[in-house]
Amino acid sequence: METFTEAHLLRRSRGGADNRARARLERRRHPNLPRPYQLRGLIRHDCCERKMQAEMLHGSIYYRCLARSLAPGSPAAADHPKTVNLREAHLLGPLNTWLATLFDRQHRADTIAALVAAQDTDDSDLRRQGLHARIRDADTKLDRHRRAIEAGVDPIALVDAMNAAQAEKAIATAELEQIPKPIKLTTSQIEKMIDALGDVRAVLDAGRPEDKQALYAAMNVQIRYDHRRQVATVTADPHGFSTGVRRGT
Ligand SMILES: [Zn+2]
Repeated sequence: METFTEAHLLRRSRGGADNRARARLERRRHPNLPRPYQLRGLIRHDCCERKMQAEMLHGSIYYRCLARSLAPGSPAAADHPKTVNLREAHLLGPLNTWLATLFDRQHRADTIAALVAAQDTDDSDLRRQGLHARIRDADTKLDRHRRAIEAGVDPIALVDAMNAAQAEKAIATAELEQIPKPIKLTTSQIEKMIDALGDVRAVLDAGRPEDKQALYAAMNVQIRYDHRRQVATVTADPHGFSTGVRRGT
């Protein structure tokens, strides 16, 4: 049950000298504090489907995806940039505003209705969509190779390409099967679940990073980053909260 989707346009970061100096100061003051990466594990890079890794760079938190850690010869390696960096500070504001708005008094009824309705679209989860797209891509490639062979191309020349497409399809299919089917909830169950989240805006405005992290987990916040358009697509699905079922990770 994927529920809400919102895309945020991200402006390019301008890491000013002030920020850098301040960060150095903070580091000196608290050299051994663990870094509160609030979105750790929640962001996937659209291009390669991998989770982006949290890292402190020049005093700011970034989520990064590096081409060099891709498996050699993997399909994503062909057009993966060397480094993709997404600054946490650019995401948190729009993300928290959006989440807080979903559950405020004005929007609560709409949100509950959307959650109930979303349960009927079993296939709406972004992760599923991504996997289905990968399977379709692999099928397209396989078709193209088969047609080439029918048209007279030496099959031996296409063995590697066909094996790669078959492997890609098998991986995506296996991943898809591992995503548990969502469990349907009634309207009152969803209402209870939202009540259990507590005062979302208060936690997001003033909560400790750990509290926010817990809230993101309870809402099953998932983010996909498209570096080409610089767009992060966010979905939330508090469904897992009441059932203890975490999906799609
Ligand atoms: Zn990537």
